[in-house]
Amino acid sequence: MSIRLKTVLIFISGAVLAAGFLFFYWIPSAERESSANIIKSTHQEMRTLSEMLISPLLKKQYAGIHESIDSVLGVHPYWLSIKVSDENDRRIYPILEPSDVSGDKIRTHIHPIEFRGGTLGSIVLVMDLGPKLAEMRSQNLKLASILVVGFIVILIILIFLLDTSVSRPVRELSTAAYLLKEGDFNAILPKAGNDEIGELIKSFETMRASLAKQKKVLEIAHTELRNSEARFRDFGETASDWYWEMDSKLRFSHFSNRFSKVAAVDPMLLLGKTREETGIPNLDKDAWDRHLSDLHNHRSFRNFIHPRTRENGEVVWLSINGKPIFGADGHFRGFRGTGSDITETVTAREKLRKAMIEAESANAAKSDFLSSMSHELRTPLNGILGFTQLLQIDTATPLTDGQRDSTDQVIKSGNHLLDLIDQVLELAKIESQNLFVSIETINLSSVLNECLGITRVMAEKRGINVKCSDSALSLHVRGDVTRLKQVLLNLLSNAVKYNKEGGNITINMHTVDETMCRIEVSDTGPGIPEEKFEGIFTAFDRLGLENSEVEGTGIGLTITKKLIQLMHGRIGFTSEVGVGSTFWVEIPLADASDQDEIMDFDVFDKSAGFDLAVGTSGNYLLLYVEDNPANVKLMEKIISMVPNLKIITCHTAELGIEVAEEKQPDIIIMDINLPGLSGIEALHKLKDMEKTADIPVIALSAAAMPHEVERGINAGFLAYLTKPIEIAPFMDTLREILKTNSNPARSA
Ligand code: ADP
Repeated sequence: MSIRLKTVLIFISGAVLAAGFLFFYWIPSAERESSANIIKSTHQEMRTLSEMLISPLLKKQYAGIHESIDSVLGVHPYWLSIKVSDENDRRIYPILEPSDVSGDKIRTHIHPIEFRGGTLGSIVLVMDLGPKLAEMRSQNLKLASILVVGFIVILIILIFLLDTSVSRPVRELSTAAYLLKEGDFNAILPKAGNDEIGELIKSFETMRASLAKQKKVLEIAHTELRNSEARFRDFGETASDWYWEMDSKLRFSHFSNRFSKVAAVDPMLLLGKTREETGIPNLDKDAWDRHLSDLHNHRSFRNFIHPRTRENGEVVWLSINGKPIFGADGHFRGFRGTGSDITETVTAREKLRKAMIEAESANAAKSDFLSSMSHELRTPLNGILGFTQLLQIDTATPLTDGQRDSTDQVIKSGNHLLDLIDQVLELAKIESQNLFVSIETINLSSVLNECLGITRVMAEKRGINVKCSDSALSLHVRGDVTRLKQVLLNLLSNAVKYNKEGGNITINMHTVDETMCRIEVSDTGPGIPEEKFEGIFTAFDRLGLENSEVEGTGIGLTITKKLIQLMHGRIGFTSEVGVGSTFWVEIPLADASDQDEIMDFDVFDKSAGFDLAVGTSGNYLLLYVEDNPANVKLMEKIISMVPNLKIITCHTAELGIEVAEEKQPDIIIMDINLPGLSGIEALHKLKDMEKTADIPVIALSAAAMPHEVERGINAGFLAYLTKPIEIAPFMDTLREILKTNSNPARSA
């Protein structure tokens, strides 16, 4: 119901109530009051009249009484009659008995005439109030009608005012609000006055302006949201990943399209199910339990990798990431995350793993081949070099000059062959990535001095002068000591080898920048023609010097380059035919912080001289276990030259153990690769037996690969010597062991 209608109804009700009040209450009560007033004033007038009549009654002046009453009746038109009686109720006035009248407005009023306590008579008044009351009613009715009309006029004015100042603005505001709701922000608002409605209109206007502003912001936000949604959808559709969601009960609630493509499953089959219900992947139990624990404990997880079998039996590998979602109230809402198909990666990794296993086994086969090659070559070389050395040191039958030259040549060739074997093995080791470097801070001058010591001996033989700038003194570099020495020795020995007689070698050292240090080795040799530069670091390429007098293998620089690279350095050279060559290497400089762990090492001088005598009194017994007759013969020959040392030999380990137990030798030399028990197994048996446990055992083997040497040392040999035997160091070792392990009980 509209305000206007309500107002009209209220006002009509008001008007009806007012009219009812006036006509049904006010007018009757006014009538009652008027009639009461008339009666009251009649009483008064009767009293006045009775007082007026006292004197004429006492004096019996009846004419006067008549006069007085007639005059009174003349002024009171509604007094119908007055009857005055004396104390004996005799009528004094009027002369004739007044006729009886009746009616509802007829009133009879009897008033006694009293004088000094006595009653002189009575007055009976008959009045007709009808005309009087009718007159008063008509007046009241007029008044009431005027009031009602006035009231209605006021009501109409009020309704009009209310309508113009309240209802209409409210109606217009309501229309504007409706239009606002419909999105129309331009509806015309009523003019705002200074009253509350005006305030309301102004507030509405302000609210509408702010809503319009918010709408604009909202529209922009909406547009951005739509754009971002579209972007997100595009990404989702084109990305290789998919998105998934779980509700707070850990039931899947969403999968983006990509998932169904990858897993080849209708997501509807999975939605509403928990992780356990969607199928346990073929995965190790720990990984699966860990994943479930992450889910149930609302923890983020990354890279949950598991296989999923498609309906057609194909297996896809999935990697899933997820993060828990918490509401503003801190309550867990579920999980949200991504997934990706990593089948290709897993397959590639698996292939790589297989390839690595194959490569490793190929590498192992290569290492085995190399170690047996090395063994096979070293065994005959042991005989060649050993016997040749014996020939040279046998003072009993000295060699002629020609023979000495020939044996020199045999030893040189043998050593060259040995060098070749070592270098080939080294290269093979680098290429099979079995060579590790241990990087530490090195004092460059220490390394260089050691290398120079060795080089000078070689250089002097050819009258070559070696000069070194002393700028190395303060330089510290990062590298592997042994390998750096090997690198420098190769450059220096080349500078000697490929130099002219009486030539010069200059070593220069300087920093290249803050990180690298360069070591240059310059010679005054014939130089290298430019067209041969290409092959300088190629293995076995000797740049045409294959048949020259200068010995070499053509692998040195190849190994050097690989070693320097392993130490994060570089190598290079410049050369000019007829002037000479400069080979340089660059190696990382040590930081100031690395200087604390500087590795200084002793430059040790291994003198080439040796003394065959053991140097202690008494006779010693040496047991040599060796299956190769040539090697046995060589050893017998060597030992025969030591006066107080006797030798017994056995060609198997089993025999050796028996002999050792029985003869109690002072020292046992054990070959490793023996028929039956190996040298290492024999060593264990000897150590296990009380009688032989203390006898020192050294290994002499052609198994010279570093891991073989290491295995021998770990097995418990006091020393591990390799073939071909070098007599002087061998004798040093013997002497040392016999001195420290001298056992008088065993010594004869
Ligand atoms: P090797 O010296 O055993 O032959 P390298 O690998 O050390 O093997 O050297 C390869 C070749 O490079 C050498 O045979 C030689 O021809 C050439 N070469 C190396 N250093 C020099 C040098 N300082 N001056 C001239 N030629 C050199």
